[in-house]
Amino acid sequence: MGTDNFGLDGIEAVYNATLEGENGRIVRTAAANGTDMLFTGYEEYHDAKDGNSIALTLDATVQYYLKKNLEQAIEDNEIRSGGIGIVMDVKTGAILGMLSVPDYDLNNFGTLNESLQAKLDAWYDPETMTAEDYNARYLALLQQQWRNRAIGDTYEPGSTFKIITLASALEDGAVTVDDHFNCGGAMQVLGRKEPLHCWRRSGHGDQTLAQSAQNSCNVAFATIGLRLGAKRFYDYMEAFGFFDRTGIDLYGESSSIWWSRRIFEDPYNHSQLAAASFGQTFNITPIQLITAVSAAVNGGHLMKPYVVKQVIAEDGTVVSNTSPTEVRQVISEETSRIVCDIIETVVSSPSGTGKNASVAGYRVGGKTGTSEKVGQASDEYMVSFIGVAPMDDPQVAVLVILDSPDPTSGIYISGGGMVAPTVGNILADILPYLGVEESGGSRTSNVTVPNVRSASVSEATAQMEAAGFTVKVLGGGDVVTDQAPVGNIKIAAGSTVILYAGESKPDSSVTVPDMTGKTFVAAKQYFEAFGLFIRTAGVAPTGSNTIVVRRQSVAAGETVPYGTVVEVGLVDTDTTIMETHG
Ligand SMILES: [Zn+2]
Repeated sequence: MGTDNFGLDGIEAVYNATLEGENGRIVRTAAANGTDMLFTGYEEYHDAKDGNSIALTLDATVQYYLKKNLEQAIEDNEIRSGGIGIVMDVKTGAILGMLSVPDYDLNNFGTLNESLQAKLDAWYDPETMTAEDYNARYLALLQQQWRNRAIGDTYEPGSTFKIITLASALEDGAVTVDDHFNCGGAMQVLGRKEPLHCWRRSGHGDQTLAQSAQNSCNVAFATIGLRLGAKRFYDYMEAFGFFDRTGIDLYGESSSIWWSRRIFEDPYNHSQLAAASFGQTFNITPIQLITAVSAAVNGGHLMKPYVVKQVIAEDGTVVSNTSPTEVRQVISEETSRIVCDIIETVVSSPSGTGKNASVAGYRVGGKTGTSEKVGQASDEYMVSFIGVAPMDDPQVAVLVILDSPDPTSGIYISGGGMVAPTVGNILADILPYLGVEESGGSRTSNVTVPNVRSASVSEATAQMEAAGFTVKVLGGGDVVTDQAPVGNIKIAAGSTVILYAGESKPDSSVTVPDMTGKTFVAAKQYFEAFGLFIRTAGVAPTGSNTIVVRRQSVAAGETVPYGTVVEVGLVDTDTTIMETHG
């Protein structure tokens, strides 16, 4: 935002007419819950005394969790060009969280962030360049930094877009849930010289419609698009809003880049239709995708996204209230229900490409995406995941996009491996905060430890075993004098709990070992040997050696009391089910 009295970007620019008072006004935005924002993105103080203020739909807590997890994902996956995250209320289109990383500090809006400054320093050569060159480049980078990429950037969405193809084809009756699709790894497409390949070159074989989504099969989705036909496909893209800006109340929204209808409907060339069916050969904004996916899961209602909830006068009277705006209904309630059921299996199926977005206690649905960056070197990718929860009555959608994983890092490049765990973590943080009730759903093996102190050893043992634990008794008494861990706490089923019968429980401290990268089985054994207990998050723990610890709630090297429960985030690293770029 400018140092003068004119909004430079974001909300202030759109609402300038509302906010403009006399010189020296106050423009101050607060989060919907009335607290100050934890981030600087939309907060501005002027030395002033009057004017309206605005209350945002952005929620400081949601924003905090989004930022925390997005930054972690960028670090974990060695991402070179930052990331984008959006959290949307799917029923209203209200934006609960939105940011691109790296962002900038509005208190120092004229200063480049560290990574861009480093880029500038590396580029600048005082021997061959002038101060004007430097300044021009500085300004260009500054503008890049100011940009809200969630609405200002376009990208090729890749397979996250399959949700839209699925919804359109189901609505039009071009496919049904009973259809099967065969993938031999490639298919011929009219007008295309080379065969079109599935990301899995060996093919997926015979699949139901739901399995085609779970596998993110390109051949199946090209087939689905071809059945729908270019004309109807194009009609649905228009209906889902991909040819218009969403009209979000922020400055700087970009337009999509699409084939013209004439070229797309070429009866002798189906290559655009086939590739578009799995999200390639066109560019859209992240806000367009999450708005359309929200429509696909909310009963079919395309909502206009918004960030300003209220405009409030200085005396506290409400000048205006934003009510949710339905642009149009795109698909029926019934079709939307089927879409929800299918994308839930992408996460809940043990072989689903989205399984790493699993959240214990919640029914999560979603879709992975991995796409090539248009016009870039061939090793530049965008990896993404869009998640929705809870699937019995969707309330929020979360889209996270990571820009350019380092191909030399050795980490397998895929939306399912890199971004699904991030969206799962964001949902695990925000769903309880938003008051969304747990509704069973994804598999958890955590069980509540009964409180058995003062019970007889035999009775306590029976209770523990009934709850799914193995029991170790220390001391020769008949009555349980203490237990580890304490009662009424959740730990992984199958853990070995300790009952003290006369012998006293150690009150020593334990240094937490580093379990990241270890299998679940190894981590549990290791923790127990140290006198620690394990609780899991993320994918369901199994004996598979591809299920490994990505994160632990207490850092390695920290000292904790004996018997402490450490939560570990599990991911499935099985690359054979992780879609990569085809
Ligand atoms: Zn396939």
